[in-house]
Formats: sequence, C-alpha cells, structure tokens
Amino acid sequence: MEAGGSSSPRGGIDLGGTKIEAIVVDDGNTVLGSSRHPTPSTGGPPDVAREMIGAMKAACQAAGVEPGELQGIGVGSPGVIDEASGTVSTARNLPGWEGSFPLGPTLASALETRIAIGNDVQVATDAEFALGAGKAYDSLLGVMWGTGVGGGLILDGRPWVGRGGAGEIGHMVVVIDGARCPCGRRGCMEAYAGRAAMEARARRRQEKGMNTDLFKIMKDRGRTKLTSAVWAKALERDDKLAVELIDEAIEALGAGIASAQNLLDVPAIIIGGGLGVRLGEPYVKRIRKAMQPHLFNDTNPPDVLPAGLGDLGGALGAALLVESQRAERPPVAESSPASAAAGG
Ligand SMILES: [Zn+2]
Repeated sequence: MEAGGSSSPRGGIDLGGTKIEAIVVDDGNTVLGSSRHPTPSTGGPPDVAREMIGAMKAACQAAGVEPGELQGIGVGSPGVIDEASGTVSTARNLPGWEGSFPLGPTLASALETRIAIGNDVQVATDAEFALGAGKAYDSLLGVMWGTGVGGGLILDGRPWVGRGGAGEIGHMVVVIDGARCPCGRRGCMEAYAGRAAMEARARRRQEKGMNTDLFKIMKDRGRTKLTSAVWAKALERDDKLAVELIDEAIEALGAGIASAQNLLDVPAIIIGGGLGVRLGEPYVKRIRKAMQPHLFNDTNPPDVLPAGLGDLGGALGAALLVESQRAERPPVAESSPASAAAGG
C-alpha cells in the first residue's frame, strides 16, 4: 500500500481511558517523536480533545515537524465511531462522553491536517498483524486487556468488524448472573478482568476489611486510578488482594478467550492492552493455561502471544489508518468544527 511516493510523516494517537499516546512516524513506521499525556478524568469531550491536541503537538515538536506538515493523523478511539463524519459517541471510559462529539473535525481544525478515526482495539490489532507479534499469521484474535477488555479480529488477512460492533470479547458471558459489568449487564468477562471493574472490586473488598497496599501504591505514585503499573507493583509485593483479583481475572480471560477460540479456530491470539503489555509473558502463559480446560480442540491450541509492539501498538495502528482510510475514501470534511464542538 505505497502512498504515491509521498514521504511526509504521519501522526498516530491512541486515546485510552488512562493515557493519551501520540506519535509521529516516517514511511517505514519508525517513531520520530512521541508524547504521553494522562487522559482527563473529569470534564468532557472538549477537555479530552484539548489534551490530545497538546500531546500531538508535543510529539511533533520531538520529531521536528509542524502538525500541518503531516500527511494526516490517525486516531484509535473507544466508543462508537462514524469514520465518515469523524464523530465519536458513547465512549464510556472517557469523562462525560455519553453523547456524541465531532472529534475528527475538532482535531483537524486545531492541528491543520486530515484526521482518520478508527476503533482503538481494532487499530491495535491491525498494528500487531501488520508490524508486530501477528506478522506470521493470516488470521488472529487480538485481546486488549486494559481499562476494559476489547477484542479485534483479522480473518483471512482482513479486519472483521461485523456491522461495526464486532470484537466485544469483554462482554462474552463467563458466569450466568455473575458480577455486574461496567456495561450494566452481568457476568461478562470484563466484570472480572477489566481494570476498571477490578478497581471497583478492590475497593469493595477493602471496605469489607480486607488489607491491601493497592491504594497506598496508587497514592504514592500520585495516581487517582489503579493503573497497570500499580497492579504490577502490588503483585511484585505479593499483595494478597491484588493476587486474588488477578487470579480471578485470569480465570475469566481463560474461559472467555477459549470460548471465542472454539468459535473462530484462529491460529494466533495476541494479548495486548495496558495490563497485558505491563504484565507480559509470565501472565500470558497463565492465560494460555487457563484457556486449556475450556478448549474443545484441546490437542491443537492456538499460539497465544504477548503483543510485540508494547505500549506503542495502539498509536502505531492509528498512524496506519492514515494510509488505509485514504486508500479507501476521500478525506473527511474539515469544515465548521467550532460550532459543532459545543454539543456533546
Ligand atoms: Zn459487559
């Protein structure tokens, strides 16, 4: 997919529930500059957009380019995405984002370049397929284990998005009438394995009198949430509650991912996301083991691999959108963002 000899750099932004990662890459997807900002935990979509603009400008500065010189900027976003209009709706892990917000036009106007938006989990999966741990396979399932648990699918070399809502592996039911999920339903895999749900469980158990260093570590690090680094530190210290909750998360991931595998029979499953990347191979190995009793085809399990691109996978995948969306359709209109931005 060579872009007609153009060699100007591209931008990529991974918009996560905890952090915003912005990068600038060259034609060979080498990172020229990057910047990471915390995702605002209060306010609304305009505040999140402002932070994204700040992160992208800082990445451009590190790369020695102006945002307006970029071929375009790809954005991997949670929520429901309208690629044509650049609108993002119901991004529940972001503050005040229940409605719909013209993220693409807002960024295009501030950064003076075209914006391509895709689903955060799908772009991270695309990046692993094109550049990372999934390079050797023609089909794979990406499981992004972070604030929530997202899934991305590549089948026979092409992303499978269904009618736009495919890949929601976090909401596979692993316990009928089980724990309440952030989505409002019960017994979803994410209710046990998503970082937001795990934090809520940790708070409840602490209130019931269980001792834990989790929130102490969080405060020492100046955080307001239990980040992946906080969980990793607590596990390192053998914190009883952290160990217990991670054990439950792994059980749930094993059941949910194995069930997906029973349906799809893909050759490879890539485990990424904030927690997946932070905890790495030792925990991927545990997930592999937790899947085994639930695999119907248990003599021929898939390869289960840690993401190869680390923390930058989402942003790299977002940068790949600039070329793929341009190849498929004309650029998003970049008009009148200011009046539209007042909504949301
Ligand atoms: Zn759910």
